[in-house]
Amino acid sequence: MKFVSTRDENSVVNGPQAVIKGISPEGGLYVPNEFPQLKNLEELIKLDYRELASYILNLYFEELGIDKIKEISEKAYDNKFPEEVVPLTFADGIFMELYHGKTHAFKDMALSVLPHLLKASLEEIGDENKVLILVATSGDTGKAALEGFKNVDGVEAMVFYPEGGVSEIQRLQMASQEGENLDVFSIVGNFDVAQTAVKKAFTDKEFQKDLLDLGYELSSANSINIGRLVPQIIYYVYSYLRLVDSEKIKMNDSINVCVPTGNFGNILASYYAKKMGLPIDKLIVASNENNVLTEFFTSGSYNSDRDLHLTSSPSMDILVSSNLERFLYHLSSADTKKISQAMENLDKDKNYIWGDFEDDLIFAGFADEEEISQAINSCYNNFSYVVDPHTAVAYSVYREYKEFSGDEKPTLIASTASPYKFPGKVLSSLGKEVPKDEFQRLEDLSELSHIDIPEDLSKLKTAKIIHDKVIEANQMQDIIKETIGGKNV
Ligand SMILES: *Cc1c(COP(=O)(O)O)cnc(C)c1O
Repeated sequence: MKFVSTRDENSVVNGPQAVIKGISPEGGLYVPNEFPQLKNLEELIKLDYRELASYILNLYFEELGIDKIKEISEKAYDNKFPEEVVPLTFADGIFMELYHGKTHAFKDMALSVLPHLLKASLEEIGDENKVLILVATSGDTGKAALEGFKNVDGVEAMVFYPEGGVSEIQRLQMASQEGENLDVFSIVGNFDVAQTAVKKAFTDKEFQKDLLDLGYELSSANSINIGRLVPQIIYYVYSYLRLVDSEKIKMNDSINVCVPTGNFGNILASYYAKKMGLPIDKLIVASNENNVLTEFFTSGSYNSDRDLHLTSSPSMDILVSSNLERFLYHLSSADTKKISQAMENLDKDKNYIWGDFEDDLIFAGFADEEEISQAINSCYNNFSYVVDPHTAVAYSVYREYKEFSGDEKPTLIASTASPYKFPGKVLSSLGKEVPKDEFQRLEDLSELSHIDIPEDLSKLKTAKIIHDKVIEANQMQDIIKETIGGKNV
């Protein structure tokens, strides 16, 4: 499969190259130049999660060979995950639980694949350099990347999270990370500051030359990397087939999906699944108070020139939603000029006008803090089901959509994090007292939900803090070089 840049039709690479590079040299994102079609769904229904993963990965990365791809799927979805990799919970909407991996957020679904995909890609291309993975994180990506890349040969990973911009559990998860090849820094500013600095490193030729002199080339584990996006297609196909299996729908009936959205990666993967032939009707894009996307899909203009709110769903506290660029590329039938112009405007003036959306593929809505609380509360009271604030954003917008449209189609709601990552907001939403101590909160939540605290989270209480450096965005490149240089001596 060939991948092409969203900003330059002449920048074309194959799958392994796209994974290694992460981003096209002129700043565009790699997209498949056509959508492979799923074979007969009747045949796919027999496959377990790993088998389906191999099938879908192979459609995009056939250069690696099916044996290698099978090995990648086996390693990625091994016993880090439960027997049922993506359980479904039926309530008002169908909760597709994507948070049963090592770090308890949906980022594990793709970041358990990416390191293996990257290693296989390096081998395939015969690249002898080491790889430096830079990650900007709003909380969940960082930890999932650290776990995914831990002790992977030939790879160093550095994670940057906004100081004060992640939940306490998320911070502890990252600050206590072990692994010789891993470093974590907090950065003064919000997620967009971190993401912009990382993106800049990817287009800074001089910086990259300095790194090459040290024997490293750069790659990204953020969802700008196509190697993140493709593994996310798998669970939409898989969950659809489980709905057929359990006779909630008939084969080829269409469904909707509703996704709590930040960088637009997860929902974009559902669009890819649709383009590959999965019967998905509406994409319901759910935002928190940072509702740039809601505004964009309603008005046709994108405006990131505003203050970022720090909300109870920090992984969606984003104003520049990177993967939207890919979506617009596909919608505009590969109009690289229009995309380049829009992204240049966004960079310079923090806005661009795209124009109206003709089809009604998308419904966009948002939930504020009060609505998030109501959604958590209503889910618990009606279905004895505890959801995290991100999932609650989706649930709230889903209910709004249903009321607005009267559409009763079965809808997959992406359930993106364990409520145990955000116990304070969950407890307060349920009208409970919120203890000062984060770990007491976990205990209280466990009592309410009758679900054990995940061990990885309870043991953070006594975990040793290993990473405590705070840096400014403009120090990033020097600190990276210093850190890498220090490891090479
Ligand atoms: C990253 C994340 C999101 C947003 O996903 P995108 O792919 O960036 O849109 C939503 N919820 C949780 C818990 C996340 O970690």
